[in-house]
Amino acid sequence: MKYVYLFHEGNAGMKNLLGGKGANLAEMTGLGMPVPPGFTVTTEACTRYYADGRKISGDIIAQIEEALATCEKNAGKRFGDVENPYLVSVRSGARASMPGMMDTILNLGLNDQTVIGLARLTGNERFAYDSYRRFIQMFSDVVMEISKHSFETILQSVKDSAGVKLDSELSADYLKEVVKQYKELYRKEKGEDFPQEPKLQLMEAIKAVFRSWDNPRAIVYRRINDIPGDWGTAVNVQAMVFGNMGDDSGTGVAFTRDPSTGEKRLYGEFLMNAQGEDVVAGIRTPQPISSLANANASVYEQFESIAQKLENHYRDMQDMEFTIERGRLYMLQTRSGKRTAAAALKIAVDLVAEGMISKEDALMKIDPKQLDSLLHPTFESKALKAAKPITKGLPASPGAACGKVYFTAERVAEVAKDNPCILVRTETSPEDIEGMHAAQGILTARGGMTSHAAVVARGMGTCCVAGCSELMIDEAKKQFVCDGKTYVEGDWLSLDGSTGNVYGEALPTVEASFSGDFQTIMQWADDIRTLKVRTNADTPRDAETAVRFGAEGIGLCRTEHMFFDEERIASMREMIVSKSEEQRKAALNKLLPMQREDFKGIYKEMGGRPVTIRFLDPPLHEFLPQQDKDIAALADEMNIPFEELAHTVSELHEMNPMLGHRGCRLAVTYPEIAEMQTRAVIEAAIEVMREEGLSILPEIMIPLVGEVKELEYVKNVVTKTAEKVMEECGVKIDYLVGTMIEIPRAALTADEIAFTADFFSFGTNDLTQMTFGFSRDDAGKFLDEYYAKKIYESDPFSRVDQKGVGRLMELAVKLGRQAKPELKLGICGEHGGDPSSVTFCHDLGLDYVSCSPYRVPIARLAAAQAKIMEAEAGSAVGQR
Ligand code: ADP
Ligand code: MG
Ligand code: MG
Repeated sequence: MKYVYLFHEGNAGMKNLLGGKGANLAEMTGLGMPVPPGFTVTTEACTRYYADGRKISGDIIAQIEEALATCEKNAGKRFGDVENPYLVSVRSGARASMPGMMDTILNLGLNDQTVIGLARLTGNERFAYDSYRRFIQMFSDVVMEISKHSFETILQSVKDSAGVKLDSELSADYLKEVVKQYKELYRKEKGEDFPQEPKLQLMEAIKAVFRSWDNPRAIVYRRINDIPGDWGTAVNVQAMVFGNMGDDSGTGVAFTRDPSTGEKRLYGEFLMNAQGEDVVAGIRTPQPISSLANANASVYEQFESIAQKLENHYRDMQDMEFTIERGRLYMLQTRSGKRTAAAALKIAVDLVAEGMISKEDALMKIDPKQLDSLLHPTFESKALKAAKPITKGLPASPGAACGKVYFTAERVAEVAKDNPCILVRTETSPEDIEGMHAAQGILTARGGMTSHAAVVARGMGTCCVAGCSELMIDEAKKQFVCDGKTYVEGDWLSLDGSTGNVYGEALPTVEASFSGDFQTIMQWADDIRTLKVRTNADTPRDAETAVRFGAEGIGLCRTEHMFFDEERIASMREMIVSKSEEQRKAALNKLLPMQREDFKGIYKEMGGRPVTIRFLDPPLHEFLPQQDKDIAALADEMNIPFEELAHTVSELHEMNPMLGHRGCRLAVTYPEIAEMQTRAVIEAAIEVMREEGLSILPEIMIPLVGEVKELEYVKNVVTKTAEKVMEECGVKIDYLVGTMIEIPRAALTADEIAFTADFFSFGTNDLTQMTFGFSRDDAGKFLDEYYAKKIYESDPFSRVDQKGVGRLMELAVKLGRQAKPELKLGICGEHGGDPSSVTFCHDLGLDYVSCSPYRVPIARLAAAQAKIMEAEAGSAVGQR
C-alpha cells in the first residue's frame, strides 16, 4: 500500500488521500508553479497510526525515508549535513481546512551543527540562529507540549537586555543566547537534551501531527463543522524556503478577491524579513499586499499572475500563502478561501456572470449555514449615527453585535445561553473556538485581517473587530481600559464588524435587508429544488418574517404558546383545574375566541399557503403555578380555597412529564379541548375566506400518537366537530387531519397509522429523545463527555442521527406510502433547518421540511444542493 506521495505524484483530485493542503501543493507543482518540493504522508497513514495503537508502522517509515532520500537527491542537500543541510517544514492538512487546528513546525533538521553550516552557507549567522530558535520553540510546543509562554518569557528578557523591541532587531549573538536558554529550558522540562538527530525530529513531528487530529480543540471544531472523526489528517513534509533571510525576503498571505465583500481585487498582507506565522500571529503589524509592488515590483507582478492563474484554474476565490527568499517567489499554499456570507454570494453570482461556473456550481459553493449571518439584524442607522465610537479596530468580520463583555472563552461558553456576549481578548487562539462560536461578537487588541480571530470569525459568520490597539486589556483583572474609561465583565459593548467601530453601550438593531445577490441565489435555488420549505411559526409576526424569507407554508403552529399570554393563562388555568366537564367547557369557551383570532391572524399572513396546526401538546402542569405564593394568588383570583388548588396542582405533578399526560393523551381524556381547537381552526378558516376571499386548507395535526386507535379516537372528535361547525356556518371547506411521528412505536406501525392520517410530520425532537432515551434538556450535562470520548460525534438534536432515528423515519416513510401512496410527508423538528438533515429528508423523499423562520433560506439552499447532489450521483451512476 502506498502511504507517501511526492508532490509531483499527486493532484487536486486526491484531497481525501492527501488532504486539502497536500492535494493543492501537488496541483500547483503540476501547473509548473514555484513550489518548494516535498511529499505527503496520506490520511490513510493517520488512520493506520490510530489502528496500530498510535504507532507508525515500519512499512510507512520506510516509505517516508525513501521519499526523503529522493527529495534530498533532487535538492543536492542532505538531512543533517553540516556543510549543506536539508531543512523541512512539517505541516498538517486534513481534507477540509481546519484553520489553526493543528500546528506547523518550520526549520526542522536544524541542530547545534547544522546551524553553523547554515550560517556559513548563507553568510548570515543572524538568520541561522533566528531559524534555530524558532525551530526549538515550535518543536517543543507542538511535539513536546512545553508551553509557548516560557519561551516567550525568555525571548522577552533577552530583548530587554539587548534594549530592542522587535525580534528582527536581535543580533546573532543575542539569538545565540536565546538558543542557549531555550535548550536549557528544554532540558529542565524534559529531563533530556533537545533532540539533535534530524530523522528522529522528523518522525516525532509526524507523530505529533497525527496525534493532534484528536486534540480537544480539533474535536470541538469537527463537531461544529460536521467533519467526521475518521477522516484523519495528512502530513506534508516540504523543503524550507526562508522569508527571514533579510530585507529582500519576506512572507505573506493573499486572497484573489476580498473575503469580506467579494470585490474582485487582490487582498492580503505581507511582512519583509519574517517567517511563516509572523504575519498571522499579529506580533508585528503587516503591510497591505498592494505595497509589495513598491518593495519588489517584479515579484509582485509574478505573484499577481500566479494568483490569477490559480483562480482561473480552480474557478473559485483562492487564499494563498507565499514566501520570498532573496527576491525569489515561492508558493506555499492555495485553497478556496473562507469568506463572509455576503462575499460568498457576490463571488458565486460574479463567477457565473464571468462565465467561469454554472448556476449549480455557484449554489454548491455557498455554505447554507453561513446565510444565517445575513438574515440577522444590523444597527439602527439613526442610533448608529448618534453613537460615538470609543475606539476603532479592523473590520475583520461584518455584522452588528451587541452584548456584555467577557474576557475568556470559557466564561462565554458558560453564560452565552442566557446572555449575549462579546468576547474580548488580546488575541484569540484555537483553544477559544467554543467560546468564539457562542459569542455574538469578538474583539481583539492584536492581529490583522488574517489573524486567527478574523479568519475563524469570518468562517463562522460571527462579527469581529480585530487589532484594536487602543484597548488596554488586563485579562487577569478581567477589565480593559479604553478612552480613559474602565470596562469590566458584564458591561455592554456594541461592535460594528463592517466599519471596525466599537461602542461602549448597547445599540439598538434593525432587521436585515437583502442584497440583490441574495435574491439571485435564492431564485436559482428555488428553480432547482423539489423539496418544499415551510416554517415553524406560532404568531402572525413569525409567519410574516418567514414569508419574507420564502416560507411556502407553516409546517408547525404550536397552539400552546398562545396560552401562556398574560391575559389568557387565567382561562387556561381555570380550564385545567376544572372539576367537571361543564366547568371545563365554560373555561374553554373563553379561550375559543382568542384561539380563533390567533388562527385568523396567521391564515391572513400566510395568504392561502398551507398551515399545519398542532393541537395542545405539553403536560398541563406547565401552565400552573408551582410556588405557594403564586398558588395562593391564583386561588384568590379563581375564588377557590388555597388547599383545593394546591391539591390539584400536586395531583397534576408528574414524575416524568416528558413521558406523561401530554399530546393526544390530553385530547383522549378531555375531548372538549380538541373540540374547542377544531372549532377555532374551522371557524377561523371560514371567516378569513369570507373576509379576505382566501381559500384556506387547514391541516390539523395530532401530536404524540403511538397507536392508531388514539388517532382514530381524536380524529373522530375532530371530524364530528368540524361537520357541526360547517353546518352551523352553512359552508363546506376541505381540511386534513394528520399526525406527528415522534414516538418510535408510531414509526414502527406507520402502515396502520397511515390509513387514518392524511399526513405525517416527523417530530424529530421528541423522536430523537425517545429513540436515544435521553431528553434534550438533560443531555447537555453529559453529552460533552460523549464527544470528548468519541462516543458521539455530533449533537443528535441538531443533526438527524441517520443511523438510528433516520432508520425509523425511513421505515415510517416506506410503510406509510405503502398504505397510502398520496400520504403527505414532512419534518417539523429543529432538524428541518440543518443542511445535512435537509439533504437526508430530500433523499428520503419527504414533501417538505419545516424550520424556524430564520433558517428558511438555509433550508431552501440546502434543498437545492440536495437536488444537485442527487443529479450528480445519478449521472455518475449513468456513466458507469
Ligand atoms: P496553517 O495550516 O496553520 O496555515 P501551514 O502549514 O500552512 O499552517 O504553515 C504555517 C506557516 O508556515 C505558513 O505561513 C506557511 O506559509 C509557512 N510555511 C510552511 N511550510 C513552509 C516552508 N516549507 N517554507 C517556508 N515557510 C513555510
Ligand atoms: Mg497555511
Ligand atoms: Mg413533540
